[in-house]
Amino acid sequence: MQSSDARDVLIAVDVQNDFCPGGALAVPDGDAVVPVVNRLAHSFAHVVLTQDWHTPGHSSFASAHPGCRPFETIALEYGPQILWPDHCVQDTDGARFHAGLDLPRVELVIRKGFHPGIDSYSAFRENDRRTPTGLAGYLRERGFARITIAGLATDFCVLYSALDAREAGFETSVALAACRGIDIDGSVEKALAEMRAAGVALT
Ligand SMILES: [Zn+2]
Repeated sequence: MQSSDARDVLIAVDVQNDFCPGGALAVPDGDAVVPVVNRLAHSFAHVVLTQDWHTPGHSSFASAHPGCRPFETIALEYGPQILWPDHCVQDTDGARFHAGLDLPRVELVIRKGFHPGIDSYSAFRENDRRTPTGLAGYLRERGFARITIAGLATDFCVLYSALDAREAGFETSVALAACRGIDIDGSVEKALAEMRAAGVALT
């Protein structure tokens, strides 16, 4: 049953093996979003996926910076960047979507994080906050006005995608039951407050 109309789109963020238990950058309980995303997707006529898609040796990997460890923050050219374990390397198993996703009607997969020197949390804009992914233009051309965001992780890619969706002028909600967070030093609570302040509906 579809409760959405032609102006609604569901964006499922980074539901990939490396962000699920057993993956290189596992979000606690990350795979719990899979059945919820599947259910949610059945109520939307239009579904878009994002896929974290890094070059080997990507600048957001701690392994690319001698002496640095995962979850440390360093200064890159564009500003502070948390360093991550190697994850979602292009065309590896870790980068593939969780096998439990059952989303036959996905209309677009937008890949992000493929510029070797720039990380990308947001589905819309990379971490230099200038390089667009092209998603806003795509959604506008398709006539979408309302975005619902689900996926991983609440405090990083979901957060930045939701903030950028608002900034791009879309009515935006985040389906919290279909999200899980990494939670570094209270980052989930902070993310929820930031989204609320930006006018994102948390449902
Ligand atoms: Zn990444």
